[in-house]
Amino acid sequence: MGVIRLLDEHLANQIAAGEVVERPASVLKEMIENAVDAGATTVDVTAEDGGLALLRIADNGCGIEPDDLRTAFQRHATSKISTAKDLFQIATLGFRGEALPSIAAVAKVKCVSSADASGLGRLLEIEGGEIKREEDAASARGTDMTIRELFYNTPARLKYMKTVQTELGHLSDVMYRQALARPDIAFTFSHNGTTLLRTPGNGDLRRVVAAVYGTAAAKAMVELSADHPDYSIAGLTALPVETRSNRNAITLLVNGRYVRSQAVVQPLLQAYHTLLPLHRFPLSVISLRMHPSLVDVNVHPAKLEVRFSKENELRAFIEQSVREALGSQAYIPSGAAVR
Ligand code: ADP
Ligand code: MG
Repeated sequence: MGVIRLLDEHLANQIAAGEVVERPASVLKEMIENAVDAGATTVDVTAEDGGLALLRIADNGCGIEPDDLRTAFQRHATSKISTAKDLFQIATLGFRGEALPSIAAVAKVKCVSSADASGLGRLLEIEGGEIKREEDAASARGTDMTIRELFYNTPARLKYMKTVQTELGHLSDVMYRQALARPDIAFTFSHNGTTLLRTPGNGDLRRVVAAVYGTAAAKAMVELSADHPDYSIAGLTALPVETRSNRNAITLLVNGRYVRSQAVVQPLLQAYHTLLPLHRFPLSVISLRMHPSLVDVNVHPAKLEVRFSKENELRAFIEQSVREALGSQAYIPSGAAVR
């Protein structure tokens, strides 16, 4: 008799959860990405106690068909890719089909979703990977996810959660990046009853920057916009008066996905060259677009790194675009008015 056997699905999900769900902010990131992939134009987020007690994400996207609702919570279940070829040109934020089963394995989840305007949808409740309730329910088109008591059944993980304030900091970070990534989506974020962010969703990035960093910062930013046969760059980057003490000030989006990349940050900083005080970073929101085959996002579920092909060309393009944007505006210290 051999001793090797396949893990049962529940155990496999719990193990995957260890990678995908590090803290409440990772749940929030996955849920917002799903809302964005669903084509939502409004995303409303409510959190309690740093997201450990409750996270609720309601969107007006395409919704989940009633017959698909259970399947959505199964491992490797996704509507976003189906062939190996798709994997090399990913156009959605999600694609692994791991988030919902992983989250449901370590929390108490209620999902109400409707894929049409009938006012009727379906409700599913899962606790620790076990289905507790499934029934028809009133629902507008879209998806409403409530995640309670994250890590209630994994005490070892729960023990490592930091203070409410620290977890809230991570939640806010995710909210800000996602809002900056999609000025065309109206986001709201409230924590323990206080509204912390509200963006208009009218497509104006400067308005989102004003909501996140304040109007003074928004006024001190110049527009970036340049094209190259392989890439385009757009966004806002600060005149050297609006600097921060760490690189979190830089929000980098590649095909709408928030990522981190030295291959982008280094040429950005080089473009500022001596304009930046020592150990200061410019406030920047940089959105790069390129053919999905030129960037590999399939690195790790929770990690933010990406790999670029033609990296040297990309670096040169970024440095030049930022330099030009700054060069044409560097002598107008107050920048343009907030539109
Ligand atoms: P992935 O996003 O990688 O496909 P998830 O586990 O996050 O995997 O979600 C599984 C599937 O559930 C998605 O592919 C999608 O079809 C559906 N889904 C999840 N969240 C939403 C949502 N907010 N709106 C519409 N569909 C959703
Ligand atoms: Mg997803």
